[in-house]
Amino acid sequence: MKLETPITYLKGVGPQRAKIFQSKSIFTVEDLLYYLPFRYEDRGNTKCISALETKETATVVGEVIATRMFPARRARTGVFEIRVSDGSSQQLVCKWFRSDYVRTVFENGMTVAFYGKIEWDTFSQEMSMVHPQYEIQEALPGVGNVGDSAEDRLHTGRVVPIYQAIGRLNTRVIRTLTRRALDAIEWQGDPLPESIRRRTGLLCRDEALREVHFPSDNTNLELFETFRTPSHVRLIFEEFFFLECGLALKRRKARRETGITFSLNENSREKIKQILPFKPTTAQKRVLAEIAGDMARSAPMNRLLQGDVGSGKTIVAVEAAVIALENGYQVAVMAPTEILATQHAFYFKSLLEPAGYEVVTLTGSGRASEKQKRKTLIADGKSQVVIGTHALISEDVKFHKLGLVVVDEQHRFGVMQRFELLAKGERPDVLVMTATPIPRTLALTVYGDLDVSIIDELPPGRRPIVTRHVTEELAESVQSFVREQVQKGRQVYVVCPLIDESETKAVKAARKLYQHLAEVVFPDFRVALLHGRLKSVEKEKIMENFKEGLLQILVSTTVIEVGVDVANATVMVIEHAETFGLSQLHQLRGRVGRGSTQSYCILLTGPMSENAAERIRTMVETQDGFRIAETDLRLRGPGEFFGTRQSGLPSLRVANLVRDRALLESARSEASAYIESPENARGLQVVARYIQDKWQRRYGLVKVG
Ligand code: ADP
Ligand code: MG
Repeated sequence: MKLETPITYLKGVGPQRAKIFQSKSIFTVEDLLYYLPFRYEDRGNTKCISALETKETATVVGEVIATRMFPARRARTGVFEIRVSDGSSQQLVCKWFRSDYVRTVFENGMTVAFYGKIEWDTFSQEMSMVHPQYEIQEALPGVGNVGDSAEDRLHTGRVVPIYQAIGRLNTRVIRTLTRRALDAIEWQGDPLPESIRRRTGLLCRDEALREVHFPSDNTNLELFETFRTPSHVRLIFEEFFFLECGLALKRRKARRETGITFSLNENSREKIKQILPFKPTTAQKRVLAEIAGDMARSAPMNRLLQGDVGSGKTIVAVEAAVIALENGYQVAVMAPTEILATQHAFYFKSLLEPAGYEVVTLTGSGRASEKQKRKTLIADGKSQVVIGTHALISEDVKFHKLGLVVVDEQHRFGVMQRFELLAKGERPDVLVMTATPIPRTLALTVYGDLDVSIIDELPPGRRPIVTRHVTEELAESVQSFVREQVQKGRQVYVVCPLIDESETKAVKAARKLYQHLAEVVFPDFRVALLHGRLKSVEKEKIMENFKEGLLQILVSTTVIEVGVDVANATVMVIEHAETFGLSQLHQLRGRVGRGSTQSYCILLTGPMSENAAERIRTMVETQDGFRIAETDLRLRGPGEFFGTRQSGLPSLRVANLVRDRALLESARSEASAYIESPENARGLQVVARYIQDKWQRRYGLVKVG
């Protein structure tokens, strides 16, 4: 049996099981072996019930001889109890509280292994386990009954790997099949280049795979639990190494392509100076230099501009736009929401129109005839800057000479959408802006095909935003604070709770809150309601009025989450802040504190989960976007944080971008050193072929090498 042998060749895997495995993308023996245990149990201590001692952790294998419920049928509040006998003089009692699920698992006569801490049950005067781990010892087809064969001994009497069940395939089945695969395999070399293995001292693959599934005796279980054994490290490194090689090869290929070579002449420099309304920060200057450098090269730019909310990314995009415009090209700016597009349009117009450029907006709504008129202007090249939502990528939008594409808030757009916009020009340069600050190596991996520039400095004169957590009961004190601020001439955002199920519900809730505030609490102030269901002219009108100070309080759903820029708005009240994610809260808070006046963010909450409490605590404690992103990443996990499919984040099978960050760093530097070095030319071909063969499917690294 080889690694690439289909899993159906394993004894015990028929068409049905193969199908279940497929749901986890397990097709071959190799796929199975890379399906690692998510934890381990030390079942070395398997004991007779009569020999058990209190407070020890032990494994007991026995037969279920009775099950019952106290009080009968009260699964949600009651205690579910089973008695276990192993033929010794005593019996073991196992108990579960709130036992809806467990109740359905056990039947008399089953043989089960229980693993847990032994307690003396004072009520029944017997040994007991509360909420033990358990594993039903059913036999596998073709193995006969549970007995004393080598395969049966896999499951007790040693450190045992525990796998996440896949559909009906429980940990025991997976364990047995994995053992069979390991026993049947003929190993053929190691995919990690020899030189890398020697330099890093990593285990070879076959040893790592054996150990990671079936640890030898006397292993440090703690290392296993934290995925830090030499075997884990080897497998995690391997996955990152090939991923990083794939990305590097892809980037290298992109650099060889020919796009537009913009010239950086005195004109564009002069123009930029003219339009800049303030002195750029050092960070802004640095990233502009990086962007301008890209634009002046013949290879198409693919750059991510990362910077915390309010760090001033937009002006950098405007500067880049000027370079393209001065070279006679058009610029497209794509934003995730209509409000943000409008906002950008306002900003770009105010700076670029006085300099003689024509700026036009294109969103999904609006009169068809008007839209058609604008499209014609774009196609003729009369409009040089086009700002819009995803309407920009609709098929009938044609550009005269598209040179630069700016995409704001990348995480809202799929990678594919970016590509569609690109196809509208002759390999235009691309600048992607995001306000999710994540560590550099992580960014370089997640946004694999992009170079990264980071603005790590806020414009001068910003004051830290005072952030307070207030529980619902004290909501009135918040109202009087808001009143005070409005009387001082400030403006206030009130954001409605996040309602997941339906937009209709969210709008309804927002309307209710608005009515209450406008009619009961602040009848003497001008209050407006903004939500996604409004017509875009209405939205624009409201935003304009707010900007001009005609409105004092803006009640809103999260449509204002990204990008709104009103310096006089200094108070952000978030209702039911516990319903929001951490990054969202940070974004919302970023709407205030945009001028030099002291700003406030008030997080109103009802009762909350521990997780929500940690989000709120983090918000109160820090304003550092990196720290916030890091906590968010930890609380939500990388998959949800990045929206795996959307960002094009590869699905990793062994490694974890958060847990294994240090290994990611080292794999990345090893990979780039390996690729740069000319003496590896031949090895690199092998690596490229390996990635092509094995990883294409999972990583979508189209045509590497
Ligand atoms: P973000 O990075 O969140 O998109 P913006 O580009 O909206 O931030 O900038 C936030 C605010 O700061 C804007 O009003 C912008 O005009 C202002 N700003 C940006 N850079 C500077 C600077 N160097 N000096 C002063 N104000 C600046
Ligand atoms: Mg922005």
